[in-house]
Amino acid sequence: MVYETGNETVDDALERVMAGERLDRTDGVALMAQPTDALAEAGAAVRDHFGDGTVDACSIVNAKAGNCAEDCGFCAQSVHFDTGIDTYGFLGPEKVLEAAKRAERDGAQRFGIVVAEKGVSKEHRPDEWEEVLESIRRVRDECDLEVDASLGILTEEEAAILAEEGINHYNHNIETSPNYFPEIVDSHSFEDRVKTLEVAKEAGMDLCAGVILGMGESPTDRVEAAIALQDIGISSLPVNVLNPVAGTPLAEQGVDISTEEIVKTVAVYKLLHPESRVRLTGGREVNLAPDEQHLPLEAGADGLLTGDYLTTGGQSPGKDLEIVERAGLEPNTDTNDFDPEAVKARHSETAESSSETASMGAEPSDD
Ligand code: SF4
Repeated sequence: MVYETGNETVDDALERVMAGERLDRTDGVALMAQPTDALAEAGAAVRDHFGDGTVDACSIVNAKAGNCAEDCGFCAQSVHFDTGIDTYGFLGPEKVLEAAKRAERDGAQRFGIVVAEKGVSKEHRPDEWEEVLESIRRVRDECDLEVDASLGILTEEEAAILAEEGINHYNHNIETSPNYFPEIVDSHSFEDRVKTLEVAKEAGMDLCAGVILGMGESPTDRVEAAIALQDIGISSLPVNVLNPVAGTPLAEQGVDISTEEIVKTVAVYKLLHPESRVRLTGGREVNLAPDEQHLPLEAGADGLLTGDYLTTGGQSPGKDLEIVERAGLEPNTDTNDFDPEAVKARHSETAESSSETASMGAEPSDD
């Protein structure tokens, strides 16, 4: 692997981060050339300084699987690739709620409702949109979980509705750097993804947006992806490592990242995003040996996606807890700053004001 080099040292960078300075692309690229051990130590120091010393766990449900018209080269759910996965339409509120209750029992603090497609559309599939909203309400009202969503590209109106319904984090990964993105996806652009993140943020939702490592990107691409996320402003940065699914173009190419590079990237991400949770997500179990899985946590990561992923099995929450403990950390047992009662109160105020509007004779808008 060829690294760009720079003059930055890990100690200098750490000092600047601790003083509240934001590191930039030049810093990030220079850090990628520094020794992994020193970076891991710095990443952990940043996590301990800016965080609460806990590892936050979230869980997801794949609420609508396969048949996506997009062509993301890593994705088993694209209609363009013959991957043989189970495909199904939106699960509906009952099954989504069942999955949320399972996640809650397993110790998750956040639960993400994910659908496989470019975007759930209020305009084009109004019945499905209503089912998604009903699922959000059931989970919000019947579980003590943050409710998050990953529903693809959003309009401003859709984002405003989701925020009002109590969606705390909107997930929409950028996957890789702006320059490398077109190597992975043809059917939509990096800018499309950024636009949805901006729309979600504008509506009041926090952002969860991250990357997939090992898709053939360079260390500089990894830094540039993190810099793009700095500009967008995120609170959770999922770090996936490619889990090649047979039939996808990237499975033919194979995974192109070592354990050392994964650990190094996590540490650099923590230095670039001191106040965001750096969250280990899909592909960690297949790309890291059992006795390596705690290493990214020792390098500054402070979040996990636990349980199953969208189309591949994950790890049991018990096993994830062992990894957290092995790294000398504790699981987060709070639902962060999420206050379900406040969200429910906000929701009922909205419902009251809508019914007042309706009683004044206004027609509900459906567009
Ligand atoms: S990553 Fe999302 S948008 Fe891309 S093919 Fe998969 S489901 Fe569709």
